[in-house]
Amino acid sequence: MRCVVTGGAGFIGSYLTEHLLGRGHEVTVLDDFSTGSVRNLTGVAGNPRLRVVTGSVCDAETVAACVAGADAVYHLAAAVGVFTILDRTLGSLRTNLTGTETVLTEAGRAGARVLVASTSEVYGKNTKPGLREDDDRVLGSPLKNRWSYAEAKALDETFAHLHAVEHGLRMVIVRLFNTVGPRQSGRYGMVVPRFVDQALAGEPLTVFGTGRQSRCFCHVLDIVPALVMLLEDESAHGTVYNLGNPEPVTIEQLAQAVLTRTGSAAGIVHVPYAEAYGPGYEDMERRIPDCTRAFQAIGFRPARRLADILDSVLAERRAAVVNR
Ligand code: UDP
Repeated sequence: MRCVVTGGAGFIGSYLTEHLLGRGHEVTVLDDFSTGSVRNLTGVAGNPRLRVVTGSVCDAETVAACVAGADAVYHLAAAVGVFTILDRTLGSLRTNLTGTETVLTEAGRAGARVLVASTSEVYGKNTKPGLREDDDRVLGSPLKNRWSYAEAKALDETFAHLHAVEHGLRMVIVRLFNTVGPRQSGRYGMVVPRFVDQALAGEPLTVFGTGRQSRCFCHVLDIVPALVMLLEDESAHGTVYNLGNPEPVTIEQLAQAVLTRTGSAAGIVHVPYAEAYGPGYEDMERRIPDCTRAFQAIGFRPARRLADILDSVLAERRAAVVNR
């Protein structure tokens, strides 16, 4: 198949690109390299079936040129990370809305199928343990910058749904719950790489808020094959799937696990949310997926647990230090 991966130089996108090339597909990566990096594609550099295009998903001409003749488009490009969203709120909103609409339109014109990467953030303040795809969103104020990411992604889902209903676009939406692993940068706020990098630097781990809030972390290598299976299985199309690991861990427990695994004695420092993110930030107490729908469709069941995740991230970071 001829595939396009938008955001293919990013954390998840680069693993997806490797996976698709490994299956014999041709891959065009479209990335603006704002948060993605050529380093993420080192393992596939020089592959004759890989084409890398530097450009924006908001630029219709560029997107049209990339998707011409494509069978499948994986739309992963987005402004991500809480720090990014809070620092560049309007720009992020535009990227996440206009980029998706452009990709959907051009992919539809080219007759390609599309996978849209959405997020567990669309559930908003719904803290129900075991969130299912049909559960309601509990909306935060549209005037709180923090919720703009959830707003954009929810509208992206609606755009995809309407392109399917009104134009017959073959599409599938995935809601990703805290995907982590090697190559993820802590620069934009993600907690696992931040804690690992802090511990390896001998710095205290910055636990925001009480640390009693929890997240479910899923290894990127459990997610990537599921993306491909959902896009390739047409009977799975036309709807949305949660993808994540159902096992919650509190942020305090995560910090302790990182300290133990690294042998760091630097400890933990608690940082109030207002100091970490600015005044009025509303964090989610928990976000636990129910992935029954993805299990029934493609047998999705993540194999890697928190220990595996931390081991893989630590191994990568230690190798980077050695190779420096
Ligand atoms: N977090 C933290 N310290 C950090 C970065 C994040 O305690 O240095 C917390 C953050 O407040 C949230 C959790 O870790 O409660 C997950 O944050 P992340 O940005 O990785 O994901 P999201 O909040 O989008 O689920």
